[in-house]
Amino acid sequence: MSKRDYYEILGVNRDASDDEIKKAYRKLAMKHHPDRNPDSKDAEEKFKEAKEAYEMLSDPQKKAAYDRYGHAGVDQTMGGGGQGFEGFGDAFSDIFGDIFGGAAGARGGRSNVYRGADLRYNLEISLEEAARGAEKTIRIPTVEECGTCHGSGAKPGTQPKTCPTCGGAGQVRIQQGFFSIQQTCPKCHGSGRIIPDPCRDCGGAGRVKKQKTLEVKIPAGIDEGMRLRHGGHGEPGVNGGPAGDLYVEIHIRKHSVFERDHDDLHCEMPISFTTAALGGEIEIPTLDGMARLKIPAETQSGKVFRLRGKGIKNVRSHTHGDLMCHVVVETPVKLTDRQRELLQEFESISSGNVDRHNPKAKGWMDKVREFFGT
Ligand SMILES: [Zn+2]
Ligand SMILES: [Zn+2]
Repeated sequence: MSKRDYYEILGVNRDASDDEIKKAYRKLAMKHHPDRNPDSKDAEEKFKEAKEAYEMLSDPQKKAAYDRYGHAGVDQTMGGGGQGFEGFGDAFSDIFGDIFGGAAGARGGRSNVYRGADLRYNLEISLEEAARGAEKTIRIPTVEECGTCHGSGAKPGTQPKTCPTCGGAGQVRIQQGFFSIQQTCPKCHGSGRIIPDPCRDCGGAGRVKKQKTLEVKIPAGIDEGMRLRHGGHGEPGVNGGPAGDLYVEIHIRKHSVFERDHDDLHCEMPISFTTAALGGEIEIPTLDGMARLKIPAETQSGKVFRLRGKGIKNVRSHTHGDLMCHVVVETPVKLTDRQRELLQEFESISSGNVDRHNPKAKGWMDKVREFFGT
């Protein structure tokens, strides 16, 4: 699809100043704004087109890229993770806010209605809680109606007054050249009321900060960094706007025995060198308690035993991960005289047969010989 030239859209020359670009955009934005052209698809398209053009040409970096490479230049800039659009909202709302803040509010009777911000809550849980699921109570900040003034913001016994500047409408009309523009009343900031004697407990806001508790249900199998959304538990909206959402981000404490890798668990399993050589049965920990594991004779250090289904249940399905036990053959320490004697005897009867009894050492020696070319 071919796109129109941004300068052409705004109706300015290529050497237009920032100010001229801004002015041209304001003019178009006012003309095509959806509030002024309800149900007009054409106006909506033109409004979006102008907005995009302005967003590009008001950003020095993007403007430079556009001037040099055209649409390809800015599209490429945008490709780097989409962060390009992030900043636009602000640049736009500056202008948008002061032209249309009033008009937008007129629909709801109050101006500047915003959705509250989203909040993030970092919740630390144990590995066992993550594996089995849990219910946690958290305390989060909230804003409630002030009990002293019951939300009016006025000191008890006094009343808010109608704003004298706008007569309670919350908006004022100002003439700007050819256009008559509605603006948020600068005195009452759109509320239509002023509070001559503000309530002391809330400073006239009518609302106070409080803490509230929230039950968080953690599903079994949840992993590090996952987020649970609690709609409407974020910051409250402004002027009756909806509240934001609360995101509970899960962090799992390091476990003393297990290390987690997605749904699998890993643990180290030290065994004595005699068990490793002769075989035997040992006890190993799992999340469901101890389990017995058969160690075959001649087990080497580093061998991994997989216990199927002893890992963590997947958070989205009913499959379970595995538990991987990594064998560490331990060298005995603090030997008694008798132990030393036996080991020396063991050594003396084995020494002529390194190749036979020490498969790894043999393979290693072969590699070393090859390396030195002997
Ligand atoms: Zn109050
Ligand atoms: Zn006012």
